[in-house]
Parts: sequence; structure tokens; C-alpha cells
Amino acid sequence: MVNYKDLGLVNTREMFAKAVDGGYAIPAFNFNNMEQLQAIIKACAETKSPVILQVSSGARKYANQTLLRYMAEGAVEYAKELGWEHPQICLHLDHGDTFELCKSCVDFGFSSVMIDGSSLPYEENIALTKRVVEYAHQFDVTVEAELGVLAGVEDDVVAEESHYTKPEEVIDFATRTGCDSLAISIGTSHGAYKFKPEQCERDPQTGKLVPPPLAFDVLAEVEKKLPGFPIVLHGSSSVPQEYVDIINSHGGNLPDAVGIPEEQLRQAAKSAVCKINIDSDSRLAFTAAVRKVLAEKPGEFDPRKYCGPARDEMVKLYKHKIIEVLGSDGKAE
Ligand SMILES: [Zn+2]
Repeated sequence: MVNYKDLGLVNTREMFAKAVDGGYAIPAFNFNNMEQLQAIIKACAETKSPVILQVSSGARKYANQTLLRYMAEGAVEYAKELGWEHPQICLHLDHGDTFELCKSCVDFGFSSVMIDGSSLPYEENIALTKRVVEYAHQFDVTVEAELGVLAGVEDDVVAEESHYTKPEEVIDFATRTGCDSLAISIGTSHGAYKFKPEQCERDPQTGKLVPPPLAFDVLAEVEKKLPGFPIVLHGSSSVPQEYVDIINSHGGNLPDAVGIPEEQLRQAAKSAVCKINIDSDSRLAFTAAVRKVLAEKPGEFDPRKYCGPARDEMVKLYKHKIIEVLGSDGKAE
């Protein structure tokens, strides 16, 4: 049993309370490898932004959960080396699907876990979430739960269609489970193809898809039912078209990839939404940079020569999100 406090990590409680009060959102960035983690920490240290490092079940399979945990521990020290005096870094399990998985992460030094029972019938979601909350809270680990189903694909999480969160359920759910934050479904979705072309309009100038707006009415209803309660948005990448274009013009093939416009996320960050999950955008930044180097220098075979530029591109992306979209810069001096 390792307690996250001994690793220099923090849970989400104070982060979220400040974010709700301050009208900004905490970035939740997924990581699977060293370059991604370096980029996240560098961007957050340079902007003094609190951050949630997310580990999905796919990341655990890809990189090994022991290694990921020690990387997060190393990240706290790296942040200090970069001159960030009081780093506020949370290590979070993304989409935990069983009590056992959540427990093993709590025991292993995670400071926050998500239990995603959103695909279960309502009462079963409550029972599972409550069980995780009761265990995690003994160690002051915070718990995110989910109500409503997001469409899209994220590692092992697949859902054909989305179901918006029902605002009439949120008080009962939050009260009976004791969860610390709630992921809701208002039209965001996982992956780089968030909407089918038939759900969108097409910009006649650029030929690019224009996605439908998020259900801000549902968010407002939820906020009214649970004033000040931390709300989470998953699947909130914007799928920057400049990256899609670089990928497509350097041998890639991502037709009609489309995300959530940043303007809408900016609006959400000012509300009760205090955690915004961004994963696909950093994958796109990484891939665009790698494809560009390999296309322009076919003789290159040193991974540092293409992973290095990919890392730089991710730092740029993360800083942009922190400063221009979430507003979390300067919130963790
Ligand atoms: Zn998610």
C-alpha cells in the first residue's frame, strides 16, 4: 500500500473547489509514454497550471501500470527541477470499470479514480460507484463517476450512441454515491471522429465539417440541481484541422476528423465544468510532427529526431489549451 501523499501528488478536491469558484477548468491529459509526460509537465510548469495526469486501461496495457506510476512520481520531481515550486499534480485512473481495478489503483498510489458505471442500469451504477467511494475515501482518494453515455471510441470504451445525462437524476446519484465529481454527457464524444458527416453541416469555403453545438441547456439544468458541484467533460478534443491537414498531406488518411470547437469548451470551462479531458489532440500533434519529419527526411532513423519535435509540438498544444481554452494558467504557483 502506497499513499499518494508520500509521492507528492494531490487529489482533486481543492483543485476542483478553486476551479468552480474561479470559473476555469483543470486540464486532464492522458499519457502513455515519456515524451507525452515530459510535454505535459513542461507545459504545466511553464504556465503554473494544476494538472490531472490520466491513465486509461489502454495505457496500463501499453506501458505497464507499475512503470506509469513511477513515471508520475518522477513527474513531480521533474516539475520541481523545472522551477515549479509547488506542483499540483493528480494521478487519476481514467474509466475504471471494476471495483477491483479502482482499489488496486488506490492501493498503488493514485490520488483519484474514475469508476465508470455509465453503461450499467442506474441502480447498479449507484451501487458500484458507492462501493468505490467508500473504499477510496478511507485514503482521501477522490472519485469521479459518470452518468449518461458518451458516443465514440476511447481505448477500451466503446459506445454506439450517446445518451445525454438526465438532469433529474443527478441529485439522487450524487447524494447516494458520495462521488466527488460527475462526468456528464452533453454531446462530447471520444476519439478524433466525434460526429458523423450527417450530424454536421459542411463549410462551403473549406469543405470541413461544422459540428452540432453541445447541449448547454442540459449542463445548465445539471448546474441548477447541483450548485457548485464539480462537473467533468470527457472527449473534449477539438481535433485541430491544421494537424489533420499536416497528417493528410504527409501520407496520412484522416478524412472528416472533427472535434468540439474550442469556443464551446471555453464557455463550458467558465461554468461548473471543472475538468476537461483532452487526449486525441495530443495524439494528433504527435503524429503530425512525426509524419512531417519522416516525410521530409526519409533517411532519419533516430527516434529522438522525430519524437523530439513531436514533444515540442505537444508542449505548444498543451500550453494553448491551458491558457486559451481552460484558463488554468497561474492557478498553481
Ligand atoms: Zn472518457
